[in-house]
Amino acid sequence: MNIADWLHRTAARSPDHPALFSGTRPCATYAGFAQQAAGLAAALQRHGVQPGDPVALYMRNQPEYLIGLFAIWWHGAVAVPVNAKLHPQEAAWIVTHSGSRLVLSDTDHAGPLAETRVGVPILTDPGAAPGDALARPAPRSQDDLAWIFYTSGTTGRPKGAMLSHGNLAAMSLAYLADVDDVQPADCMLYAAPLSHGAGLYSLVHVLRGARHCFPESGGFDGVEVLALARALERVSLFAAPTMVRRMTDAARDEAADGQGLKTVIYGGGPMYQADLARAMAQFGPRFVQIYGQGESPMTITVLDRADHGTAALPGPHIASVGRPHSTIDLRVTNDGREVPPGTPGEVELRGPTVMRGYLNDPDATARSLKDGWLSTGDIGSLDAQGYLTLTDRSKDVIISGGSNVYPREVEEILLRHPQVREASVIGVPDPEWGEIVVAVLAAGDCADLEEELDALCRDSIARFKRPKRYLRLTELPKNSYGKILKTELRRLLA
Ligand code: ATP
Repeated sequence: MNIADWLHRTAARSPDHPALFSGTRPCATYAGFAQQAAGLAAALQRHGVQPGDPVALYMRNQPEYLIGLFAIWWHGAVAVPVNAKLHPQEAAWIVTHSGSRLVLSDTDHAGPLAETRVGVPILTDPGAAPGDALARPAPRSQDDLAWIFYTSGTTGRPKGAMLSHGNLAAMSLAYLADVDDVQPADCMLYAAPLSHGAGLYSLVHVLRGARHCFPESGGFDGVEVLALARALERVSLFAAPTMVRRMTDAARDEAADGQGLKTVIYGGGPMYQADLARAMAQFGPRFVQIYGQGESPMTITVLDRADHGTAALPGPHIASVGRPHSTIDLRVTNDGREVPPGTPGEVELRGPTVMRGYLNDPDATARSLKDGWLSTGDIGSLDAQGYLTLTDRSKDVIISGGSNVYPREVEEILLRHPQVREASVIGVPDPEWGEIVVAVLAAGDCADLEEELDALCRDSIARFKRPKRYLRLTELPKNSYGKILKTELRRLLA
């Protein structure tokens, strides 16, 4: 099986169905999409790419991205999507680390990448000629690699999770079963980087013959997203929690209610309850949360639409990340032993979505994959109904005076203050306590902010969890997916 077969089949079944849109402008039917992918696959072959070779994609979100992705598979090669927002040096590191044979790029990204002397051809126009298309996708087995997913590097250097055609197929079926029942009339809108969840979720939309829309801004603009949803209708999108917040702000300014939006899938980082409540009040019950990571392509658990309830009456599990998706087993362990419901421990899973390992990193692979179980590095607990609540990432847990402090719990409380826009809680080495709890904030003007925050904490959490120090910044450092970089904050405080 080759994921590109899905495009081939959809094009044969519904050749005239609109497939690709730039903004509201249709730019290819499914027949056109498949033809362009097949033509580009032939061009890759002419450039010396062999089936099984990695090929990097470094360009902004645009129809050519999806055509490039499917062309790579059509030829039997392996896609290495690189986030377009990465610095050219960071992109070059991924191109080299993955052993990519060439890079498909656009004019904005090709020049700066070439200046890094990355040493492989960077093509903005690979010269696909319509006459010389490869008729059918190359045969692949389900264990053949399809996508090398570079994690976002929140905890260090990005790691290349190796995902097979079988992994991507299993993920897509779980998406249909648990996240969204995609229909041909639906439209997936790519406002988040295609190198992450948004790109992975494009596959199931090709399988079902849905439409694909690429905002003309090439990135995330809340006002543009709302306008496109109104114009195209039945629009779904994947959004990181920071994007959901920006969409809510845009809708409030315009008094918009999300007309035309079908499903907003959010995840990839913690969604704070205050932000979710505002979003649900603005847009109604259109939300699905996914908890995932590149190692199990962006889906491990799902908090579905029904679980969310309504803004007035949120569901009882709203603070959780939902239940394991349909194709995996999930367990929570402590020192390798499964713990009973209610007890926090490391989240582990096994099943057909789990990666084959990390590229060129046997040590990290051995640490993450044991007896077929993937250790996620996240701490959480299951309840009696099987809902998972994430407490934190194991690397971020603070141990102060011998007691564990989970930063997320404290951050949730700080974010209740109306002046606090962003909050991150980290541990700073301390001779007496081992570590002390420090809160770093981006906040509006408020003279007594620290006292007020301390009072909020006093009302809800134990003394040892309360921040001992506060630091204010205009904005917290984030990576290109909008995740706060605690490593950066720790460096700053050191
Ligand atoms: P690196 O592994 O390089 O540090 P990363 O972990 O950020 O980067 P990703 O695969 O992009 O790499 O992100 C996965 C992580 O994001 C998960 O392990 C989890 O900690 C966090 N995450 C994902 N979804 C959610 C969610 N819905 N709620 C809370 N955290 C989430």
